[in-house]
Amino acid sequence: MSSVRRLMATMNHSGLKSGVSLWCRQSFSLRRATRAPLAVSYGGFRRFSVVSSSSGFSNDNREFVIVGGGNSAGYAARVFVEHGMADGRLCIVSKEAVAPYERPALTKGYLFPLDKKPARLPGFHTCVGSGGERQTSEWYKEHGIEVLYEDPVTAFDIQTQTLTTSSGKLLKYGSLIISTGCTAARIPEKSGGNLLGVHYIRDVADADSLVSSLESAKKVAIIGGGYVGMEVAAAAVGWKLDTTVIFPEDHLMPRLFTPPMALKYEELYKENGVKFLKGERIERFEAGPDGRVAAVKLESGHSVEADTVIVGIGAKPAVSPFEVVGLNSAIGGLQVDSQFRTRVPGIFAIGDVAAFPLKIYDRMTRVEHVDHARKSAEHCVRALLSAHTQPYDYLPYFYSRVFEYEGSARKVWWQFFGDNVGHAVHVGNFDPKIATFWLDDTGRLNGVFLESGSPEEFQLLPKLARARPVIDIAKLQSASSVEAALEIARSAL
Ligand SMILES: Cc1cc2nc3c(=O)[nH]c(=O)nc-3n(C[C@H](O)[C@H](O)[C@H](O)COP(=O)(O)OP(=O)(O)OC[C@H]3O[C@@H](n4cnc5c(N)ncnc54)[C@H](O)[C@@H]3O)c2cc1C
Repeated sequence: MSSVRRLMATMNHSGLKSGVSLWCRQSFSLRRATRAPLAVSYGGFRRFSVVSSSSGFSNDNREFVIVGGGNSAGYAARVFVEHGMADGRLCIVSKEAVAPYERPALTKGYLFPLDKKPARLPGFHTCVGSGGERQTSEWYKEHGIEVLYEDPVTAFDIQTQTLTTSSGKLLKYGSLIISTGCTAARIPEKSGGNLLGVHYIRDVADADSLVSSLESAKKVAIIGGGYVGMEVAAAAVGWKLDTTVIFPEDHLMPRLFTPPMALKYEELYKENGVKFLKGERIERFEAGPDGRVAAVKLESGHSVEADTVIVGIGAKPAVSPFEVVGLNSAIGGLQVDSQFRTRVPGIFAIGDVAAFPLKIYDRMTRVEHVDHARKSAEHCVRALLSAHTQPYDYLPYFYSRVFEYEGSARKVWWQFFGDNVGHAVHVGNFDPKIATFWLDDTGRLNGVFLESGSPEEFQLLPKLARARPVIDIAKLQSASSVEAALEIARSAL
């Protein structure tokens, strides 16, 4: 039995699937005027559905609570509003000081040089990233949504359905959506990971701190050759800084790029003056006499001078204090089903923190990308508020955009859809296009990558990755251009 089916079978067995949908119906059919908690029972598990008054949140009961005020929370809030279920009913508990925003901007437009019109809030609050309305803090107020800023949830009592925030507030919830995202992986303090001038980038406060370092920086070291490394290195080029990218693998973006793909991007960065130290591991960061970072010491014995260090070595799902709803020990995060339900009735998890069944490839996964944050939020809230029961059927999609500041000689914009497994066929010479197709032994397409495509070409990618046509590998390999290769793939649909 597949892992997804096994999961579903376990959930059905425990009564969770029907339990949750029953409870949800119960939850939103409640009379809004009712203040007393209603008890709902699930095979011995007693839950209270709570209702708050529509005239604000004068009591401690909240009908719907979202913990985490990030990317997915913003999209979730929009669906509550669309269903007329936000006003006086929805509360968002946020660790950050600002309303939800499109987090990817932090390593893109936010880091543009100061004279090249950098992105700043309120410009990129959700849901502008997908062409939606800009939901500022006023938008939440106007829609009767309570947002508790800078007051993270520190404790959680599953029996009493109560959250405690760092300021000591006690919040009773009816339904709970956990959207706590990830935290940046850090270099230990004893290795200099907390020195002045060492940056991690997860939220707008981190980005502000980095920008203030860049203003006086001369030598920048970037630790990690993934998304954050590539994007911050491109930004540092815009600031005209001496930049070195250090990583243990033998090429950039090792989780997605093949060596030939990586080589093309590395050459572009090198033409822009960026240096790479590959196959190198960090031993520690060293401080100068002023206490600020001054050098990166490598295990090989090499040392790189740097007054500003940006660490982009991955992220960890922010599961605390919610571990009790069920961790996925293999891939991390909180385990959910195809409607984002945890094993605890009435508790959901979405976005980066959710370990969910990836239907198309029949496996459990976690996806740390904004497209999934948006879609999981929309799917979860629709399932919670309506009779919609279709399983989430996500097609993995990753993108990046760099060197986009005004005056940049070469903009980079790529998209990838599907699964990067199988034989990779590379087409194009990067002037400016390249495409890579991943195919299995029979020629069936698994995944497709395109750099600098036209809007029509980018629109073709998800169709190909979803349909998985069988393509003549020899024909694809001999395609004279990216356009010709895409046409060969399109004709196989
Ligand atoms: C710098 C950067 C660049 C990125 N670039 C891209 C990109 O180019 N393309 C792409 O597809 N994806 C990108 N991503 C990933 C994308 O931003 C995430 O997948 C997305 O933000 C996930 O949304 P989320 O709501 O799950 O988590 P988040 O947006 O991280 O929101 C989680 C929120 O929960 C808060 N929180 C955590 N714990 C608590 C608590 N106990 N109580 C209250 N609040 C809490 C956090 O402070 C945060 O505000 C990038 C991420 C980062 C950090």
